[in-house]
Amino acid sequence: MSHARSLGNDAGLPPTDVDTVIVGAGPQALTVLARWLFERPSDLRRVAVVESAGEWMTAWRAGFARQCIDVLRSPGVHHPAPDDMAFVNTHGNWPTFETACAAALRSGSVGPLQRPTTAAFWRFCLQLIEQTELNDRLVPATVVGAVAVRGRCGTSSWKVELDDGSTIGARQVVWAGNTRRRRVPAGVQLGGAVQHSGDVDLGAVGVGERIAVIGGGQSAGQLALRAAQRGAAVTVVSRGPRRVADLDVDAGWLMEDHLAPFRATMDPAERRRVVERVQCGSMTSDLDLELRRSRVARVVGAGEVTARPDPDRGPVVGFAGVECEVDRVWAATGSVPDLRVAPALAELAASGAPHIDGWPVLDDTLQWLDGFYVVGALAALTLGPAAGNLGGARAAADILANRGPEPCRTGISTY
Ligand SMILES: Cc1cc2nc3c(=O)[nH]c(=O)nc-3n(C[C@H](O)[C@H](O)[C@H](O)COP(=O)(O)OP(=O)(O)OC[C@H]3O[C@@H](n4cnc5c(N)ncnc54)[C@H](O)[C@@H]3O)c2cc1C
Repeated sequence: MSHARSLGNDAGLPPTDVDTVIVGAGPQALTVLARWLFERPSDLRRVAVVESAGEWMTAWRAGFARQCIDVLRSPGVHHPAPDDMAFVNTHGNWPTFETACAAALRSGSVGPLQRPTTAAFWRFCLQLIEQTELNDRLVPATVVGAVAVRGRCGTSSWKVELDDGSTIGARQVVWAGNTRRRRVPAGVQLGGAVQHSGDVDLGAVGVGERIAVIGGGQSAGQLALRAAQRGAAVTVVSRGPRRVADLDVDAGWLMEDHLAPFRATMDPAERRRVVERVQCGSMTSDLDLELRRSRVARVVGAGEVTARPDPDRGPVVGFAGVECEVDRVWAATGSVPDLRVAPALAELAASGAPHIDGWPVLDDTLQWLDGFYVVGALAALTLGPAAGNLGGARAAADILANRGPEPCRTGISTY
């Protein structure tokens, strides 16, 4: 069985083929496709978007809901639509004057970034998905393999294998799967009430519970604040100093002044070190202010923090030579892109596709292998530290629209 049969390919292609398979239906895929279809609307019927969750933006929405995030961290000009100003022109700085006043009263500053509210951003994306008819391109499945197929004239194409045993033949693949593994510090042992922030359920927090949140970034601050608002006694413990920055990555990383020297660094291992140095975890000034006004306690510069579930004492957190018993420990320590987590990518890497500890080494057009492109956080060795956020998605979309995958070829199949 092939999903591609139901995708309405133009006559001329074998019925089981599409031109491009995009893996993942998050903001990266949406940005790339919206831009691409803006340039070449007729390509729509030759694209299949394979998404495990079967819907657009599921992982994004789940992440925002889990942490009860009301406002994006990125500026209003970063969004998946091709026109930079589309969001700001539609929604203004804030959806309503009342929202702006409420936000200003709460945080002391609305800020100049015109950051979208979560609700307005989702409505904007939904409208874009509907306008571009991208729901019709979804294939609800997980990509488990990708095999290069040599064509008659030396051209190659891809056989994309899905978890239901079916395959899709495609001339090119764009991987937008945000493939990652969780980062858990060596001294933190997950289990029981010691959880990674990705598993936290704020709804389960009870009044008076003692919660230790490990980390100094936006997720740590956000979870701490929300738990405190539910009546918990929260302490945020961070290894390093308090870092406040309105953007997670300096905006210069979307511009040539930072990117040109980065790209001039020929050694991909050195590029990785640069990216990791820049992505050091910080929180926005309004969140920092809200935390300071809240009852959340903060320990900064604590050095290595340890945590473990203790069968007799419950969760135990340790820092600066002291151990404390608490009711919950949340490790808000983030995640790291790692292609080896996805079997399809791991197999390609095992057969020689270049990578630095799980980060693919791509060319300037984001191509990893002939006809196989990677966008999102995994493209950081080419796009720099902002690759994984909405600004990075825009940069990837520019590259793919201008220099990346070729326009679909009417009636030509490499099979
Ligand atoms: C809590 C949080 C808040 C953030 N806020 C912002 C912000 O305000 N601004 C900003 O610019 N960035 C933000 N980011 C960073 C980044 O923009 C988001 O993580 C964003 O979701 C990344 O988009 P993506 O498309 O790469 O990945 P995702 O949104 O994770 O989408 C990837 C999709 O691929 C699917 N998938 C993966 N593997 C497969 C497979 N093998 N087969 C089929 N489907 C697959 C997944 O199911 C998923 O739906 C935030 C991140 C987090 C965690």
